[in-house]
Amino acid sequence: MIEHKAVVDTCKWLEQGGVEVTWLRPDREGRIAPEVVAESLRDETAMVSLMMVNNELGCVTDIAAIGALLRQRGVLFHVDAAQAAGKLPVDVSALNVDLLSLSAHKVYGPKGVGALYVRRSPDALVEAQMHGGGHERGMRSGTLPTHQMVGMGKAFEMARESLDAEPARLEELRDMFLSGLEGLEGVHFNGSREHRVPGIVNLSFEGVEAESLMLGLRHLAVSSGSACASATVEPSFVLRGIGVSDELAHRALRFSFGRFTSAEEIEFACSQIVDVVTRLRAVR
Ligand SMILES: *Cc1c(COP(=O)(O)O)cnc(C)c1O
Repeated sequence: MIEHKAVVDTCKWLEQGGVEVTWLRPDREGRIAPEVVAESLRDETAMVSLMMVNNELGCVTDIAAIGALLRQRGVLFHVDAAQAAGKLPVDVSALNVDLLSLSAHKVYGPKGVGALYVRRSPDALVEAQMHGGGHERGMRSGTLPTHQMVGMGKAFEMARESLDAEPARLEELRDMFLSGLEGLEGVHFNGSREHRVPGIVNLSFEGVEAESLMLGLRHLAVSSGSACASATVEPSFVLRGIGVSDELAHRALRFSFGRFTSAEEIEFACSQIVDVVTRLRAVR
């Protein structure tokens, strides 16, 4: 229910073509429990698709446990790892996945290119997405964009190299960010405090509309919901999906930290947020 639109819309399209889709409900933290997957499987279940890290909440689902379960039951497993690469180790063998999607620009690579890992197995045969020449083992025909692929390869290589030190650095920034906001009352944390990547923090501010807060925070690049769906005024379907009330979903912002975020910027962000939230609450 809280997958990225890239997967949600694809499943909706499949439904229109007569494919039956079971939409799994996450827990309050945004994670899908292995038991929920196990209980939802039917004899005719052909494939399960789940994200490793949720893009709005930063919570991490136990893909390895689910992968082991699905391999045992003989069900194909696709994992959307767009938000996991560069933040967590992603080992397709250890995770027992058959298909895994990656996006280069999420690890500071070029836009417009991504990768689909396909396990070499007779079960994991992917039908051609486009035809004409049989490139990429017949799955994606067309002359390959060398510059895009080299850029993507380099970006993933650099992401792998930074995996040893970067999470700890981001963890520190995140703690700094949350303690910098401790003076504010009525701040709700959305997502999982235990199972999460450090670069994404989703908070709801009581009494303050996210839209007004965003306008007030004009020196910060923040979003209400996903950047890919930010043209809509509806509250985030992800927050609704984990049971956040409409009221608090309308008051939620996602803050992200990355490779180029500094401690000074965190301090600046906190002081801006405290100022603007306090000001907006005062004029309510
Ligand atoms: C960004 C993202 C996508 C879509 O990737 P694009 O290359 O931007 O189309 C899919 N899933 C998740 C979890 C994402 O964060």
